[in-house]
Amino acid sequence: MRAVRFALLLLCTVWVAAAHADTRRPNIVIFLADDLGYADVGAQGQLKDVRTPNIDGIAKAGARFTNGYVSCPVCSPTRAGLMTGRYQTRFGHEVNCGPNPAPNFGLPVDQVTIAQALKDAGYTTGAFGKWHLGFTPDRHPLKRGFDEFYGFLGGAHSYLEAVVGDPYRGAIMRGTTPVKSITYTTDDFAREASDFVEHHAGDDKPFFLYLPFNAVHGPPHATEKYLDRFKDVKEKKRRILLAKLSALDDGIGQVMSKLREHKIEDNTLIFFLSDNGGPTGGNGSRNDPLRGVKGQVFEGGVREPFCVQWNGHIPAGKVDDRKIISLDIFPTALAAAGAPTPANVQFDGVNLLPYLTGEKKEDPHDALYWRFGPKWAIRDGNMKLLHEPQDGTLMFDLSKDLSEKHDLSKERPEELKRLKAKYDAWNAKNIPQLWHDSREGKKGAKGQEDAD
Ligand code: CA
Repeated sequence: MRAVRFALLLLCTVWVAAAHADTRRPNIVIFLADDLGYADVGAQGQLKDVRTPNIDGIAKAGARFTNGYVSCPVCSPTRAGLMTGRYQTRFGHEVNCGPNPAPNFGLPVDQVTIAQALKDAGYTTGAFGKWHLGFTPDRHPLKRGFDEFYGFLGGAHSYLEAVVGDPYRGAIMRGTTPVKSITYTTDDFAREASDFVEHHAGDDKPFFLYLPFNAVHGPPHATEKYLDRFKDVKEKKRRILLAKLSALDDGIGQVMSKLREHKIEDNTLIFFLSDNGGPTGGNGSRNDPLRGVKGQVFEGGVREPFCVQWNGHIPAGKVDDRKIISLDIFPTALAAAGAPTPANVQFDGVNLLPYLTGEKKEDPHDALYWRFGPKWAIRDGNMKLLHEPQDGTLMFDLSKDLSEKHDLSKERPEELKRLKAKYDAWNAKNIPQLWHDSREGKKGAKGQEDAD
């Protein structure tokens, strides 16, 4: 009898443990770089001067997408898309704010954020870094689904000073309170993110960590610690860029180490990407071999280093050439969390999990679209049609012409017509932009480069 009872007890214990393991939902981490070029990650294999062992580690442990896109070539609209899983032009979040933001600038409060959805699903949520989705109290990260926030609300910030200009908009804040001093923003954001992991690693509930570094966006601030690593680099702007990037990579390493220390790395779904392409002239970044820069709908403005890691779920070291977009992160995270799509939300992004696991072999998207003020583009299969006011309407076959050098618009008018019609059909579901960038009309594409 005793033996039977013991066996039953053992069985129950095993069953409970198994049930617990099955219901252990993954933590979700998004590492977002700012203004990092397509070539500026070691794993991309383009340049020898970049040293990013920790970002490369994510690529090695998971999948690296060579056709990973964001939904806008500048900061704020991309973040609006990432936060909502929807093309931000669906709800008018089309452009940046500029230095004198319109009063209504910011992610419209009727849009559900990934943080809100995961919080509703029982996640603890934290954001550490650059927000750039509104300055009004109702658009503060703590009102948009985050339990914890340390960072700044604007599009750019000094790396070295806690408060710049406006004491609310220009401050580094913990929650809603400006902090008195900082060390170096990249180090501080990484420390705060790492502390967040430390505090919540042992909780019964999983966490969502959003770490939008301001690196490697301007201003050109780097500390000796990081500059010393690139003594061999002669060109000043590039050396500062590499130092900022090295700090960012260290910061990612710090968070990854914390995940490992608590033995939760395997139960964490991790994304790494940049919010837009490099403003090469602005911050010394490189987009090789792509054409174009931040602010443009050429590949260099919207195609990013993009890696996804989830040990045991996503095969390690896979290089994936299928096209994906930052809008996919939200539905993918929800699927991993086993949470439903929020009511009345129509995602443009798709759940990438079956594509990441290898279950689905096809392309997750037949076409991707961009609209950014007067600029627009569609990529359908490998064909891309784009409009840049300074260059006109151009068409390229990316399978043969990754650098967008050979314009096919005159050679293949029927294809142009087809792509334009498809773009128009997509565009018909967008709404007019809700505000204007306060610099609009003052500068061309180049003017966007070093702007927020
Ligand atoms: Ca940016």
